[in-house]
Amino acid sequence: MKIILSPDQVLRKKCEPITLEELPQMAKLAKKMAKVMYKYDGCGLAAPQVGVSKQIIVLDTSVHDEDEEREQNPIFILNPRISKFGEQTECADEGCLSIPGITIEIERPTYIEIDAMDLEGADIKITAEGFDARALQHEIDHLEGVTMFEHLDAITRSIKLKEFEQAKAAGAQPGETSLEQQEKSA
Ligand SMILES: [Zn+2]
Repeated sequence: MKIILSPDQVLRKKCEPITLEELPQMAKLAKKMAKVMYKYDGCGLAAPQVGVSKQIIVLDTSVHDEDEEREQNPIFILNPRISKFGEQTECADEGCLSIPGITIEIERPTYIEIDAMDLEGADIKITAEGFDARALQHEIDHLEGVTMFEHLDAITRSIKLKEFEQAKAAGAQPGETSLEQQEKSA
C-alpha cells in the first residue's frame, strides 16, 4: 500500500459511505491505512490517499518526540458528517502526505462536531477543537475529493502548484513538508 500523490484523479473523487456488509473488509483496510500513516509519520490519512474511494479516516494527532518511538493509538472514523462548525476560524499551515514538500495556509473553523461510525459499526460522536479540528476537516475534505489546492484562489493555487512541482522534482517524499523541516502531514 503506498501513498497516492496529487494530482492523481482518485484524490478528486467523492468517496462512498461504508455499508455494514462491507465493514469487516473495510476494518482490515483501515488498519493497513494506520500502518501507512505511522510509516510516514502522518497525523491523519484518508482512504483516497491509498487509492480507495471509501469514507474511511485514520487519525492520530498525539504529539511525540522526534527521537522517541511513537505510541500508536489511531482513531478510526467511518462515514463522517460534520454536524456543527464553531463560529471562530483560524489560518494555519497544513501539510498533506499526498502533497509532499510544501505547506499551504488554510482558514478553517476551530471547532467541529461530527457524527460517524466506528470499526464495529457503532454510531459515534466526536467533538474536536484546535489542531484536531483542523486535521479532521482536512481528512473529511479528502473524502469529498477536495485537496488543499482547492481551498486556494486561482493565483495562489498556480503559485502553490509550481512550488509543489519544484518540491517533487527535488525529491520530496510523503511526510516531508519542506526539504529542511518536517512537520506533520495529513
Ligand atoms: Zn491530506
